[in-house]
Amino acid sequence: MPHQIERFIRDVPDFPKPGILFKDITPLLQSPEGLALSIQRLAEVVDPDSYDIICGIESRGFIFGTPLALQLNKGFVPIRKPGKLPWKTESESYELEYGTDMLQIHVDALEGNPRVLLVDDLLATGGTMAAAINLVRKVGGTPVACAFVLELSFLPGREKLGDVPAHSLLTV
Ligand code: AMP
Repeated sequence: MPHQIERFIRDVPDFPKPGILFKDITPLLQSPEGLALSIQRLAEVVDPDSYDIICGIESRGFIFGTPLALQLNKGFVPIRKPGKLPWKTESESYELEYGTDMLQIHVDALEGNPRVLLVDDLLATGGTMAAAINLVRKVGGTPVACAFVLELSFLPGREKLGDVPAHSLLTV
């Protein structure tokens, strides 16, 4: 039987550029069954008692992180691309295949040293999540785990995350 999540993931070759096999999650979101299943599984994959608040990474981390927070009666903190957050921010740069990128968080988003679950749709090289983990620490949070819908097993993404454990609903 195909994996329950896998049957909702569409492979799109050569997007956004030649050689990339893009894992399209829009069929998962489009299906009431797939959407409910993904949030329910995310709620199970890390013990909700082990964290206080959820940080999601723009923009697909918002799609999964916010309903998860709502379901578990937790708050949600956005980690965004540069120039989007209106208040005082902390920044973290990270390497891309070509050049660098940056993520930002509000400086007062994690006051009181909450335990943080970080959420994104997909773990590839791990550069994005590693930067988000550093940001959480910079503003006083304690990252306890990362959760992903999908993980690409042929890339060493987990190794970049240091001592923060990664949990995925599906490894491909
Ligand atoms: P990385 O920093 O390499 O782990 O990349 C993670 C980010 O890039 C996530 O936010 C993903 O949404 C996106 N991403 C990277 N590779 C893919 C892929 N093959 N298909 C879909 N999204 C991807």
